[in-house]
Amino acid sequence: MSIVVEKITKLYGNQTALKDVSFSVKKGEIVGFLGPNGAGKSTMMKILTAYIEASNGQAKVNEFDVITQKKQVQQSIGYLPEHNPLYLELYVKEYLKFTANIYKTDKSRIDEVIAETGLTPEVHKKIGQLSKGYRQRVGLAAALIHNPDVLILDEPTTGLDPNQLVDIRQLIKKLGQTKTVFLSTHIMQEVEAICDRVIIINRGEIVADKYLSELNKDQDQIVIVEFDFRVEDEFLKRMPHVIKVINTHDFTYEITFDTKKDMRSHVFDFAHDNNLKILQLNQKNTNLESLFRELTAN
Ligand code: ADP
Ligand code: MG
Repeated sequence: MSIVVEKITKLYGNQTALKDVSFSVKKGEIVGFLGPNGAGKSTMMKILTAYIEASNGQAKVNEFDVITQKKQVQQSIGYLPEHNPLYLELYVKEYLKFTANIYKTDKSRIDEVIAETGLTPEVHKKIGQLSKGYRQRVGLAAALIHNPDVLILDEPTTGLDPNQLVDIRQLIKKLGQTKTVFLSTHIMQEVEAICDRVIIINRGEIVADKYLSELNKDQDQIVIVEFDFRVEDEFLKRMPHVIKVINTHDFTYEITFDTKKDMRSHVFDFAHDNNLKILQLNQKNTNLESLFRELTAN
């Protein structure tokens, strides 16, 4: 296991930021840590990188304990903090040299990480002259300098424009081919774009832990339709693929179909053939987006 978290609780004063959090990440996985602002993502990441200590519970990275083996933990991890403090007056290479010194790694790594993170065209510039996308590349290069097995990236694409976002996501995916990646985000599309698995956190508690392949496998589809008149449930069940009908209120029905094919046009034809008018017709998604909304609604 690359990461093992067991019943971690973190209090700031009397405020609970994490409550009894447990999960583990296997070697080679790319896991998205998804949750709204204030959910506890950064707190969890700071505990894993041994920057702060939990109030209770245990965590290990590469089998090293985050409290008793801080040094080994930090050697195992490449960490990109949420507000990555970069030295704007330093040249890219200078900064990476500085980072290489801290980790006591061979200077030959500097050119390697520059190539690996696509920094070559901007390498002669000062960090302050770089776009946000390139600054994130510098942050990633610094996180990679000691060639860690595990990357912990705290909201790595926040504040990037759409093109930079696509580039950085691609880079993270590429890094994920050889490393374990644990990245936080409040954007579910990010998880869909990069990750194999999602762990959803809300108000300091884990509310879901699923492989995306599991989520996408869901064959059911729910269509919500409002007619202008009452219809018998049994009547609606005459449409193909219907497995369940619920009359949620008045003339609104939730119809579950056992197919992924968009059934809205069938509902429309059905209404037309039976002289009903449709006032509303929507698909209820059972995918990550609706799961996230459901689980993090306050
Ligand atoms: P996220 O990264 O998911 O947005 P954080 O881990 O930063 O969430 O914060 C979780 C909760 O802990 C929030 O309510 C936040 O206000 C609180 N918090 C974070 N850091 C501190 C701190 N140093 N002192 C007090 N409260 C904090
Ligand atoms: Mg955060």
